[in-house]
Amino acid sequence: MLSGQLLDVIKGIESDQFVPYFQPIVELRSGVLTGFEILARWRHPERGIVTPDEFIPLTERSHSINALTEKLLQRAFVIAAYMPSHLTLSINISPTQLHDSSLPSQFQRAAASGRFPLERLIVEITESALASNLERARETAHALKDMGARLALDDFGTGFSSLIHLQKLPFDELKVDASFVRSITKDRDSRKIAAAIIGLGHSLGLTTVAEGIEDQAQADLLLWLGCELGQGWFYGQPIAPRAMTRFDFAHPPGPPAGMPVTGWDHEASTHLEALPAQRLAQLQAIYDGAHVGLCFLDRNLRYTSINRGLAEIDGLPVAYHLGRAIADVVPEMYSHLETCLQRALRGKPTASTEIHDIDLTQSGDPRSLLVSCQPARDEAGEVIGISVSVIDITDRAKAEKALKESEDHYRNTVELSPQVTWTADPNGRILDFGSLWETLTGMTRDETLGEGWINALHPDDVEPARLQWEQSRRTGAPIDIEYRIGRKHGNYRWMRARAYPRRGENGEVTRWYGVVEDIDMQKKTERALLRSQSRLQAVFDAVPVGLVIAEAPSGRIVMRNPHAEYILGPSDAEIDTIDAYRKRTAFHPDGTPVQPHEYPLARAILHGETTPPEQILYQRADGSKVLLRATASPVRGLNGEITGGVLALEEIDGEKEPS
Ligand code: C2E
Ligand code: CA
Ligand code: CA
Repeated sequence: MLSGQLLDVIKGIESDQFVPYFQPIVELRSGVLTGFEILARWRHPERGIVTPDEFIPLTERSHSINALTEKLLQRAFVIAAYMPSHLTLSINISPTQLHDSSLPSQFQRAAASGRFPLERLIVEITESALASNLERARETAHALKDMGARLALDDFGTGFSSLIHLQKLPFDELKVDASFVRSITKDRDSRKIAAAIIGLGHSLGLTTVAEGIEDQAQADLLLWLGCELGQGWFYGQPIAPRAMTRFDFAHPPGPPAGMPVTGWDHEASTHLEALPAQRLAQLQAIYDGAHVGLCFLDRNLRYTSINRGLAEIDGLPVAYHLGRAIADVVPEMYSHLETCLQRALRGKPTASTEIHDIDLTQSGDPRSLLVSCQPARDEAGEVIGISVSVIDITDRAKAEKALKESEDHYRNTVELSPQVTWTADPNGRILDFGSLWETLTGMTRDETLGEGWINALHPDDVEPARLQWEQSRRTGAPIDIEYRIGRKHGNYRWMRARAYPRRGENGEVTRWYGVVEDIDMQKKTERALLRSQSRLQAVFDAVPVGLVIAEAPSGRIVMRNPHAEYILGPSDAEIDTIDAYRKRTAFHPDGTPVQPHEYPLARAILHGETTPPEQILYQRADGSKVLLRATASPVRGLNGEITGGVLALEEIDGEKEPS
């Protein structure tokens, strides 16, 4: 005997009181509509709209659930004619229906008469449907799949959850139950369950769909966790069939008025371009391919994951690490890292640690490692572990050591060289200089920098040096000055300071680069030369012999002493040549003219000959004549080459010819 309620249901089905309502399902990333879930409603003539929780058990008991599903599908397929052809329809079936072998053919009939391709149909099965007779359920499920329909595991995580169902049945979709979604932003455990379900779905290659999304925060967090599709009041409540004919499929309704639109405040979620699943794959590839050693330690400092790079550094297989404590796996490394690991566990970021000469692989080839330990937090900001990165910096450390050695070498070289290099800013303030300066002057660095260097100069050289430096800075002309520097009391050394400006793009001086050279020895030699030169000059001037010096090969007269002028008479020009002398006609004592090649200075310069004393009758410019004894000899350079000649002239007393 059927109760009145059950009869009521049967009558209701027959008289089409049951109607399909449609709830939008969207892609979480874009909000784009992908389909609808069909939810049954009973339009009761007296009670109004009755929800499934109330009548589904009745239809099951009255064995009219199949009839109900068929009616719903028929009407839904009519509505589907209004929909874009890519949209799917999801239909719920009761546990008992899955054990009914006529279900697939029933679906096929409905689809054929409604001209709805079964590829667009998703059949939602709750787990409780599978518990009683998994074998039968398997058959039906495969039959549905063979017709092209897709299968979704509904309410996953509630009821008789068993992973065996996922393994035994050909599911395409996994629906995250609304109970987890509801508390996902508030309760850490449901967040973790949701994350685990979504992760499980991904790893099995299933599409994940979240039910009962009521606000933006839930949607954002689900997206961040990698969930692909979603449905719920936030995207639209179940819609009556009549309203479906007016539905704007391109612009799904979105949240009803008054629905909170609060975003999940996680910086990562808003910037993601790729789907989380793709992102995960990319990250995994990066993780494994990285040249950096990476691992993740849980709160007990056990390896949760480790990449190949770090396993290689440790010299141990990846699998050996997993689940073990870092202190046990690499005790030597752990002793260096203990402090920063503890800090990271307390949520404090730590600076990188350098570990030198550590031989983890016992290969006799110690390495230098740069290790960073950063706290890893979950979506709620709680520290769940530590992310460790390890870079092998052995080569870098070697290079640095070599660099330092060569720097020291350079410094020594600079210190040994008699030059002080320096740089100055455009205002002429010394920025840096070689340390030889300190040795030479006894001044400290700080005393020297800026304008302090001037205090090392000899008091007489301060003003000229300052003036020249100022002028060069104004004009940008290279500087080349000499001054003496020294310790306070005497002991000054001569220095030569030269500098060139470096210019910027607009030609403005950006830096002065200079060098100060110790020229004291040079200067002293020069002075000595000058002194001996002036002594020679005195002799040159005082001797009662006429001396004429000419350069080779031009024969240009470069010097004459006063006695030469007295003998020969004043010259026409400041600088004379042998030719000019020749023009003043020279004669042999016998009165024949001296030929150009016979002239003693010419022989000395042109042939390198030292001429024996010869008598020459010389006619001065004023016509008076003088009898001379002339001797010439060449002047040779360091390599023996002739650089000039010297002519010595003596007046032969009393032999002066009357004019
Ligand atoms: P379900 O398959 O899990 O369907 C989702 C339920 O959550 C629906 O309730 C839907 O109206 C409701 N819902 C959707 N979005 C939200 C939301 O944002 N917040 C909240 N609080 N609820 C939301 P409904 O329509 O009352 O259906 C209840 C259950 O009845 C369904 O759960 C499904 O298992 C079953 N059912 C519905 N239609 C049929 C049917 O034609 N055949 C069978 N066998 N079962 C059905
Ligand atoms: Ca469902
Ligand atoms: Ca559900």
